[in-house]
Amino acid sequence: MPLSTGQKLLKIRKGEITAAENIKGFLNVIRKNNTAINAILHINDTAVKEAEAVDKKIKSGEAGKLAGLAIAVKSNISVIGLPISCASKTLENYYGTFDADVIAKIKAEDGVIIGMANMDEFACGSSGESSAFGRTDNPAAPGRIPGGTSSGSAAAIAAGFCDLALGSDTGGSIRNPASHCGVVGIKPSYGRVSRYGLVDMTMSFDQIGPLSNDAYGAALAMQVISGKSENDAATSANKVPNYLRLLKKGLKGLKIGIVSEFEEMCSDKRIYRLMEGVTHKFAAATKSGVKQIKLPYVDLAIQAYYPIVYVEFFSGTRKFDGRKYGKKIEESCGEEVLRRILGGREISRAEYHGTYYRKALKAKKLISEGFERAFKEVDIIISPTTPMLPHKLGTKITDPRAMYAYDAYTTPANLAGICAGVVPAGRIDGIPVGLQIMAPAFKEELLLQAMAEIEKRSN
Ligand code: GLN
Repeated sequence: MPLSTGQKLLKIRKGEITAAENIKGFLNVIRKNNTAINAILHINDTAVKEAEAVDKKIKSGEAGKLAGLAIAVKSNISVIGLPISCASKTLENYYGTFDADVIAKIKAEDGVIIGMANMDEFACGSSGESSAFGRTDNPAAPGRIPGGTSSGSAAAIAAGFCDLALGSDTGGSIRNPASHCGVVGIKPSYGRVSRYGLVDMTMSFDQIGPLSNDAYGAALAMQVISGKSENDAATSANKVPNYLRLLKKGLKGLKIGIVSEFEEMCSDKRIYRLMEGVTHKFAAATKSGVKQIKLPYVDLAIQAYYPIVYVEFFSGTRKFDGRKYGKKIEESCGEEVLRRILGGREISRAEYHGTYYRKALKAKKLISEGFERAFKEVDIIISPTTPMLPHKLGTKITDPRAMYAYDAYTTPANLAGICAGVVPAGRIDGIPVGLQIMAPAFKEELLLQAMAEIEKRSN
């Protein structure tokens, strides 16, 4: 069992291990195991030096909240001097020229970037198989997909390559790999965390969020990366609560919703039963009530999500024309990225306008309103994360519709802009299964409290 994030932080602060030792320890594990797992695409050569500087600050009592922790970063988040390839040949030789807001904040709190993580190309996919630099293996279920698109970030946590990781989530890309790799992950509310320095997949859904071994680690990372930024007009001025303090408070007397429509959508019913079992245990322990609720139109989430993604992704990729950054995308990208570019171009044509895109926006609105009504009845909603277990590497899902169905439980939160997180719920056939909690927008403290309580009770 690795140390909990809280224990690790304390050991570093007390000088029982130095920040440099912490980083060196992880680098050794990466050097030993990354060839097989392929979670890290690039190691930060200056990580040990940076950690030594942090050690000096610890000694003089000036160290920040993340002092000496190792952080892996998804390869679509800009870090100065490191390759931001988006796991694509298109940006293969592109190096960050500035720090994303989240990275500047992490560095200001003395976190050490250990390396850049593998991912599905341009954050399109659900399995971790579409990276131009090879698939990632699942350290918690070897030989199976780790989930995606933040595949490397989740696998890096599960493999013991870092303390914390950053991912991005447009339709489930933090939550799905967190579930498959048996770790914790959070998609913050839209506007909670600055997207400045994130390579867009779909601007109106993308959020950067943390992956961690435990809810405490996720809360700590959220504390550091959340908040208003002048660089991202979509960030909210809502005050960031003290997540760490609120986490200690625990929870009582919640109203928990389980969505009636979700049972049928679960192709592996064992996942649904596991989710129900853990939810009832959690409810009993916290004197909470569980209620079946309806989320009308939630079955349209996939149909609403993909046309919007295609159109925004197509538009966002126009800058990769081979002149300013890297190669021309159409000539260097993989199959799924090309499908979205071509599909997005078609949908954007004037004659189709009312046919797909407008309809998708309408469905998005109906789904958001459904959540608003639901959150008048219940405090949080619990659901499975994915409808099936991770498949074996090499048995690729070839039908894009089957791959898209993977996102049925995760896309609704992005469509509605609410926050959602995943915690390990247990195992089926030895494979980790995470449970998803959804909470109203800007109620991350409630989400984290529920995650911490569930974490205590799953096995
Ligand atoms: N699987 C979803 C998609 O392919 C989500 C990806 C993501 O969240 N980046 O769009």
